[in-house]
Parts: sequence; C-alpha cells; structure tokens
Amino acid sequence: MENTEHRPARDEQTRRRLITLLTMVGALVTLLIIVHQKAGPDLPPTQPVVREFAIFDSYARITLWTDRDTAEGALAACAGDMRAIHDTINNYDEESELSALNRTAATAPFVCSDLLWDVLQAAREGYEISEGAFDVSVGPLMALWGFHQKRDGLPTDEEIAAALETVGLDRVQFDDRARSVRFSVPGMSLDLGGIAKGYALDRVMDILRRHHVSRALVDLGGNIACTDLPPPQREAFYVGIRDPFDTGAMLGRIRVLGRSLATSGNYERRLVIQGRTIGHIIDPRTGHPVKGPAGVTAITTSGRNSDVFSTAVFVGGAPMAQRLCNAVPDTGFVLISGLPDAPVRTIVGDAGVVIDE
Ligand code: AMP
Ligand code: MG
Repeated sequence: MENTEHRPARDEQTRRRLITLLTMVGALVTLLIIVHQKAGPDLPPTQPVVREFAIFDSYARITLWTDRDTAEGALAACAGDMRAIHDTINNYDEESELSALNRTAATAPFVCSDLLWDVLQAAREGYEISEGAFDVSVGPLMALWGFHQKRDGLPTDEEIAAALETVGLDRVQFDDRARSVRFSVPGMSLDLGGIAKGYALDRVMDILRRHHVSRALVDLGGNIACTDLPPPQREAFYVGIRDPFDTGAMLGRIRVLGRSLATSGNYERRLVIQGRTIGHIIDPRTGHPVKGPAGVTAITTSGRNSDVFSTAVFVGGAPMAQRLCNAVPDTGFVLISGLPDAPVRTIVGDAGVVIDE
C-alpha cells in the first residue's frame, strides 16, 4: 500500500520537475525555430560540394548544392556505382564481364549480370532508333582500324569486307528470358564505348535523386547531366559547346534544366595511319571511319539517349538528327561543321536556349 503521509511534498517535487522539463522543451523549440529561420526552409547552400574522380579513362566531376553529409553519402554511392559499371563493361580489360562475353558468346549463350543486361538493352534500343547507325557490334572494325592494337598500314577493302561479315546487332541473338547473348557468327565483339558514359550518367542521377539531392551538375568526361532545379540564385545551368577545331575555345553556351548532353567528335580520339587521320566513330554499314561533322552535341532527357544520339548523328548527319528529334520529344542537336577559321553551327530540334558568346 502507498504511504500517503509524504504526498504533499512529492506533489511539489513532481510539479517542479514538470516546470523544468517544460522550460527546457520550450527553449529547444525556440532554438530550432531560430535555426530553421536562419537557414531558410528550402534554401540549399550556395557553395557547392565539388568532387572529381578518375573513371572511364577520363574524369568525372560532380557538383552538388546540398549539405556536406548528404553530399558525402551520395558521392560515395556514385563513385562505387561508376566503378562497378566501368569494371563490368570495359572491353580493354581482360577481366571484365564484357570481355568474357566477347570471348565465349560465339560458342555458347552468355548469361549476363543484371548490370550488363541493362546496358545491352539500352544499346539495342539505340540500334533500333538509329536504324543501325549506332551499333555496339563495331568491335571487329575498331580492331581492324587499329584502335585495339597499333597498325602500320591501312586495312584493305577485302579486310573491311571480311570484318563487316562479323558486324551487325541483328547477328546477335538476345534471349530475353534467359538474359543471354549469343553471337551467330564467330569473330564478333561488342564495344560499349559509345554508350558507357551516358548509361553511367543516368545511374548517377538516379543515385542523387535517391539521396534527395535536387540541384546538381554531373560531368562524366564531356557527358553532362543537370537536375530540373538550377543552382541556388541562378535560373539555369549553362553548358559550353566546345569548338572542335580549337578545343580550348567555346562556340556558345546552352541554357538547360533537367537535360543530358553528349558530344561526339573526332578530335577526342583518333589515329594517324600513313598520313591519314582515322576517327574513332565507324559507320557500321560501310566499315569505314566516319569523317562526319567536326562535332555533334546531343541534348535530350536521358544520359543514355544523349550518348547514343551524338554517336548516331556523327554517323548519319543532320537527317539522322531530324529523325531522332521527331522520334523523341525534348531532343535537339548542335552540329559544328565548316573550317577551323569559319566554323558553321547548325541547330536541329529543341536544343534548349543556345547563347552566343
Ligand atoms: P562517342 O564518343 O560517344 O561518340 O563514342 C565513340 C565510341 O563508340 C568509339 O570510341 C567506339 O568505342 C564506339 N563506336 C564507334 N563507332 C560506333 C558506332 N557506329 N556505334 C556505336 N558505337 C560506336
Ligand atoms: Mg556516344
């Protein structure tokens, strides 16, 4: 039974404790309100967190307008994911899954990991929409023209014709249920260099979204994506169009929000054989490196499409650009042609606002 004798004293003690507690809670609430008002309800920090990584034989530069803890969590996840993509689809690495596929898919169906299968689906879509101008089965042609191993002479017409017999995504059998790939001709090989960075860009943007980063600019070696929201106190993101004839200079800027951009050009990667410059983008139908416009920038709503489209339009020129604009909303292109001292800029479709310098 309870001893009632000490009740008044205990009641007084409880009352004092309650008052102290309420005072403390009140003070804490006031403090929180002050802090919240100072930071502003939705205002992200104006100083971004910027991080660079070496990846895809190039660089990645990620700029985030968010608090440092959120940024660090998101950046760690992005770095891990980019590394996984690189390690899976790098065909210059004998150990990669793509190299294993290329070694064995002519003899038995190769069952893909989810990651490799996903990239290959994007590549198949790219092939369909570009009517074969974008074709990741260019591997044998890349090798023939000396991009895998240095060669002294130019390939002969016979060599090109023979290589073409091993090229064409319609010669690759995809089993959608088993998620496996089989080459119908020996000697085929896939090269995901034309889509890898664009694919990675989409994954990075997804990771940022999952980490609640709503203002970001991601540059994966010239493949760029930005969020729907601009940096604080700015109206949009501005992405420079590089002058393909003078890569230190810019030929204007594009004002964008929520877009991905990719640029293809021979100035990035080329060989010189017997005095002839060999560009790294090959027309899978002729087997010859494409001379192309000097540079093509594709602007659209996904990283993978921007990467596929810039390569496809490098092969197919302005008519291909028009075709892709008709097929995919919110898509546009900036093509640079002409001569070094007189570059010509052609805009096709909805490229965003292009600003002259
Ligand atoms: P990009 O710089 O995105 O235009 O991609 C060029 C890279 O894609 C080359 O270095 C090759 O690895 C690969 N490639 C070359 N020609 C083609 C093509 N017609 N379709 C798809 N990938 C290609
Ligand atoms: Mg590309």
